[in-house]
Amino acid sequence: MTLGEVSLKSSIREKIEWAEAFYLKYRDRFIKDPEICELLHRLKEAIYASRREMANIGMTVECEFCEKDEGGSCCGAGMEDRYDGGLLLINLLLGAELPKRRYDPASCLFLGPDGCLLLAREVICINYLCQKILEHVDSKGIASLREKEGVELEVLFILRERIRKICNTSYPTLSQKVRNCSKSTAK
Ligand code: SF4
Ligand code: SF4
Repeated sequence: MTLGEVSLKSSIREKIEWAEAFYLKYRDRFIKDPEICELLHRLKEAIYASRREMANIGMTVECEFCEKDEGGSCCGAGMEDRYDGGLLLINLLLGAELPKRRYDPASCLFLGPDGCLLLAREVICINYLCQKILEHVDSKGIASLREKEGVELEVLFILRERIRKICNTSYPTLSQKVRNCSKSTAK
């Protein structure tokens, strides 16, 4: 195994390079695991359910307006550093593409012209609601969104654990590398 080690302190470019190389080399080992396949499917469903709820409660429109007309995105430059290699690897397993260039110099590397380019996101990105959203969306809508996000976070947690377990039991060499790249970030 010749892939280089990266840690949470590595640059985001190094983490992306690591995740892409790791994915290319070991993708089959993960997707042949029935539990991983099922969890990836469940995670995708949960992510789409959260997104649908964001649209239902009017948050998507608010955020688009904020992004395009008010220049007030909460996805600022530097947010990408909260991501570790393990979560980037999960994004690749879900079929997301990791960007090579920053779309907006003032924004997170993962922010594209139509919003976040990632599918699996860190808890801070999933949970964050600004004051404007809290004021404009009624409490029933917020509670409904929180419920969907809770499912998303739970499945993501189980998937991360399953990936670690496979590495620990079957691929000890992988284990160290995934552990080094999957330490969760503090909020
Ligand atoms: S959550 Fe708030 S600050 Fe962030 S894009 Fe939406 S409206 Fe703007
Ligand atoms: S939601 Fe996406 S674009 Fe926004 S800060 Fe999080 S990772 Fe970056």
